[in-house]
Amino acid sequence: MRISIVGSGYVGLVSGAGLSEVGHHVRCMDIDEDRIDGLRRGVVPIFEPGLDALIEENTRQGRLDFTTSLESAVEHAEVLFIAVGTPPGEDGSADLSHVLNVARGVGHLLQSPLLVVVKSTVPVGTCEQVRSAIQGALDERGAQVPFTVASNPEFLKEGAAIADFMKPDRIVVGTDDEEAEHLLRELYAPFNRNHEKLLCMDIRSSELTKYAANAMLATKISLMNELSNLAERVGADIEHVRLGIGSDPRIGYSFIYPGVGYGGSCFPKDVRALERTASQFGYEAELLRAVEAVNNRQKEKAFARLKSHFGDALNSTRIAIWGLSFKPNTDDMREAPSVVLIRSLLERGAEVAAHDPEALDEASRVFDGAAGLHLAEDPYEAADGADALVLVTEWKPYWAPDFGRLHQSMRQPVLVDGRNIWSPDVVRRRGFTYYAIGRP
Ligand code: NAD
Repeated sequence: MRISIVGSGYVGLVSGAGLSEVGHHVRCMDIDEDRIDGLRRGVVPIFEPGLDALIEENTRQGRLDFTTSLESAVEHAEVLFIAVGTPPGEDGSADLSHVLNVARGVGHLLQSPLLVVVKSTVPVGTCEQVRSAIQGALDERGAQVPFTVASNPEFLKEGAAIADFMKPDRIVVGTDDEEAEHLLRELYAPFNRNHEKLLCMDIRSSELTKYAANAMLATKISLMNELSNLAERVGADIEHVRLGIGSDPRIGYSFIYPGVGYGGSCFPKDVRALERTASQFGYEAELLRAVEAVNNRQKEKAFARLKSHFGDALNSTRIAIWGLSFKPNTDDMREAPSVVLIRSLLERGAEVAAHDPEALDEASRVFDGAAGLHLAEDPYEAADGADALVLVTEWKPYWAPDFGRLHQSMRQPVLVDGRNIWSPDVVRRRGFTYYAIGRP
């Protein structure tokens, strides 16, 4: 099938690579010329395990190419996916300007029948707006070309995106058009072989499903963080509580880890946008507001710990930070807890030395040479001479560090474990003062 994907970010590139891998002919389009230039030279602009190899192979096989021309994307496609960003607007609602720009552009360029599939995460009602935008542009030209708009939200997780795309738990399709359903069933057939994973529903339900999934996951995290704060006060250990509740199959072990808050390009913005949608429809989504408020407070947690440990002396400390990306196996730092912590420390006058296995380039872009921040290529270099080490993101190489070496090289042996990955007994026996989340 001839497929174009407009927007070559995390979702567009992973989808493009995955769809070309099974034999489709895919054209990935983006307005960012540097990004497309790089991709044509084999430079993948994001870190996502396995993505480079897939892009290289499918480009070599002639099934995947890149363009900055929307015209060429429209001309190539039987099915055109919109996978551009939907960042939060000022009031928290999703900013649809990129999506609707693409829709208008498609309407101006359309020459032959096309299925337009909205893959970006968009509020209920957006596919109708996309349809109107395309139709409006066609009307301006006085052209009549048949087209259909369907919804197909993406559920991949950064860090495991290739596996999620190639072996999805489910494929959600929202359409009221039989032909569109057939086309999308055919397109996704290679990913849907053993048991039926494609769930076809009306467009509004499909649009809402994506927000519902992220809201549910964010709620699990905020509830655990709420309970961890309570555990600290009542003298309980949230790690025992976690195991005690996870064993109930109705609850399960996944996604109930307490920590320093969730970040990333999806949960924070999608919870906010869903809350905005609710209020636009006259409904007060109290739980969603609380999920967000608990998370914002939790992102202050590590800083509060350091403040209570060091008091006024905090402004003359050097603090090491391990982990800058919002979660392991990605270089994405959008809304990452590390950013909140580093800003608070720098404002306070503390020095910060930070390490991350993949996000250092992104960190230098985010902090743009901020005074007092040193980005270290090696985790032990970051910890050298530090008054405390804060673990913010649980990258695998941090799980079993050389505590002896750390103890020797740090100025004060203070650990703040923002993800509860270290054993309190082990680190205390090695002479550290140890703080975790929700543990005595
Ligand atoms: P991203 O910021 O990584 O990529 C978006 C790309 O779109 C950018 O490269 C940008 O240059 C391009 N773009 C913007 N306007 C354009 C236009 N008019 N024409 C062509 N390209 C344009 O974003 P992302 O993380 O891939 O997310 C895309 C969408 O998918 C969002 O709605 C997001 O909520 C959703 N989503 C993201 C994830 C994730 O894990 N990142 C998962 C599921 C869904």
